[in-house]
Amino acid sequence: MISRGRSAEEPVTRGTIIAEYDCCAMQADMVVRGGVIYTLDATKPRARRLAVSGGQIVACDDASLDELIGPRTRVIDLAGKAVVPGFIDAHIHFGSLALARRRVDLDPAATLQQGLAILRAFSQQQSAEAWLRGRGWDRNRWGKLPTAAELDSAVGGRRAALSSHDGHSLWLSSAALRAAGIDRDTRDPPGGLIERDEAGAPTGVLFENAQELLRGHVPQVGDDDVRDAIRAALPLAASAGLTGIHNLEDSRSSRAFEALESAGELTLRVHHGVSRSELRDAREKGLRTGAGGEWLRVGPVKLFSDGALGSRTAHLLEPYEGRQADGYRGVPTLKPEELEADMRLAADAELDVAVHAIGDAAVRAVLDAYEKTRATYPPMAERMLRIEHAQLVHPDDVPRFARLGVVASMQPIHATADWRAADAHWGRRARHAYAWRDLLVAGATLAFGTDAPVEQLAPLASLYAATARVDPTGEPKGGWYPEQRLTLEEAVRAYTIGSAAAERTSTRGSLCPGKDADFVVLAPDPFSRPPEALRETRVELTVVGGRIVFEAMP
Ligand SMILES: [Zn+2]
Repeated sequence: MISRGRSAEEPVTRGTIIAEYDCCAMQADMVVRGGVIYTLDATKPRARRLAVSGGQIVACDDASLDELIGPRTRVIDLAGKAVVPGFIDAHIHFGSLALARRRVDLDPAATLQQGLAILRAFSQQQSAEAWLRGRGWDRNRWGKLPTAAELDSAVGGRRAALSSHDGHSLWLSSAALRAAGIDRDTRDPPGGLIERDEAGAPTGVLFENAQELLRGHVPQVGDDDVRDAIRAALPLAASAGLTGIHNLEDSRSSRAFEALESAGELTLRVHHGVSRSELRDAREKGLRTGAGGEWLRVGPVKLFSDGALGSRTAHLLEPYEGRQADGYRGVPTLKPEELEADMRLAADAELDVAVHAIGDAAVRAVLDAYEKTRATYPPMAERMLRIEHAQLVHPDDVPRFARLGVVASMQPIHATADWRAADAHWGRRARHAYAWRDLLVAGATLAFGTDAPVEQLAPLASLYAATARVDPTGEPKGGWYPEQRLTLEEAVRAYTIGSAAAERTSTRGSLCPGKDADFVVLAPDPFSRPPEALRETRVELTVVGGRIVFEAMP
């Protein structure tokens, strides 16, 4: 369990820090100068210099700060680059992302030879003892069924088991066949088939139920695997400029983050969600939003109220396009009374609530449940609600976000990945889809994230999606419902101070004395340029708690 420490709501003692800075001949750990610091702090939106000491910002202004520079001060010259608060991804599945990176992906391989080249490169980075797992090969694409001998040529003596693109067959190396005890004497199981040569020997592919022959021989993913995978993926997040995440996964991932936290290995701050299956015991276990320390805290409980756009299971107020005849409106996954009961349980445990809601009916049902529960169950008034995705919001419901203090936790990159599907399935309603501008104008707090690994984790790609509303190929021309575009500052705000607000943290998300020194350097400065410039913008430095966790400054 995440240990109890300073609660997220506790105010920072800013006065003390400033007093220290005023009275003592202090030497800063780091001074950043020579560019523009976009603080997102209302009292001082732009600054020329920033100083860090003890993991916190001690000065952020236009004064020279030379008196803070001593022999052990790291001075960073920005050369005209920009500093922004560190990005906080408000909706990510980091364990899944990390585990997927450990598996080989054969989808990009057009031929068997390309597939073998990918496997050769991948297997060289793996230990000889580990099982090599992956997916994506396709006999139709490759023009033949691959063999164990071919796989051996790429992975040496390693045990390898690779799922086909459709998941209906498994390609094994000779060592994997041996490990599973599959040989010419093995019978085809009911509903399954072992591919064999003329002499009856298995050639390396198992179809359908024959894949089950491997069960019990391939190690299950354990806590150590998740921890190791997450550790290995942290540099990727640091290089993308992430200084914090709201990780919406179960306790297996939170245990992994706890292990990394106690080993001092975290390079980003984690606000960790609680799954619905843990809700009943949450109070007893002390799973309370904000409990934890500087690096790892308990986040909200995550509930699901509908499906998704792509599978046409998002719950709509009116039928899907072309479904007037049967009136199909998607799939609500929680009844209103279940939603209300879960909210009361969450309130009892002092957990904030994050509900996945994509269709306009789902969004309305969640707002209704929250409004009703707050009115009838006083502990709920203390709890924050975040609606995850909020992809289609009926105009009547837009003002309710601000009125009820509900955070809209949205993923700009979903809009540019899915706009064709939204047009096809939602028709004219799509003008109210991914309506960041409408929500912002109505006073809602936006918190941005990516839903990685569903989408790539890079904040800069999301900022481009939010400000241009075109996909990476520039479609649709002029932007999809461009009236919903945000300015770069508004989008950065949602990705920093908005996400911090969604975790009720006042010490992060902006840059001013007393705040945690979490920031990134962007090059070139994208603020004075058109949105397209974001495609060339790079993260050159990521600092978390005053510590450099990624550095690529020339
Ligand atoms: Zn998600």
